[in-house]
Amino acid sequence: MRLKGISNAGMQRLAGTVQAQAKDDGLDALEEALSIAETTYSQTRSVDEAFSAAEKHLEEDGNYAYFGVEYTPYEETGPLSGVEMAYLNAGDTYAATLCYTEDKGFFISSWGDYVENAERQYEEETGERLCGYCGAWSEEVAAGQECPSCGHAPDEWS
Ligand SMILES: [Zn+2]
Repeated sequence: MRLKGISNAGMQRLAGTVQAQAKDDGLDALEEALSIAETTYSQTRSVDEAFSAAEKHLEEDGNYAYFGVEYTPYEETGPLSGVEMAYLNAGDTYAATLCYTEDKGFFISSWGDYVENAERQYEEETGERLCGYCGAWSEEVAAGQECPSCGHAPDEWS
């Protein structure tokens, strides 16, 4: 299986953007939660316990409601194949929240930014494009030919 991680440099840029946006919006609490998660993980080696401790801290902070830990969906091909990110569901796709991957450990980003970044990187690395009809990735779509999955051509939807 092909592993598609996001480069550390890309992820740091992304995290920097999200942090800047979140500056007035509880970033301090998130950064505290990040350090609590890291500490808890170093003591317990349990991602679940680290997320629980961080979530508890954020909720005690008062301004936020979180809805437990969620995971990026398993995909056999495409930008998210071979990548599993766990994150605290903050109720909004682009809300800055606490995230975890095996490669990077814990970091602050959002589910929406993470997926968009993964898709951009996948396009650059493979030259493939996403079919607007069926959601399949292929080089045929990038070249303006018929999508091998659903038979639609980009002209029909661009
Ligand atoms: Zn298609």
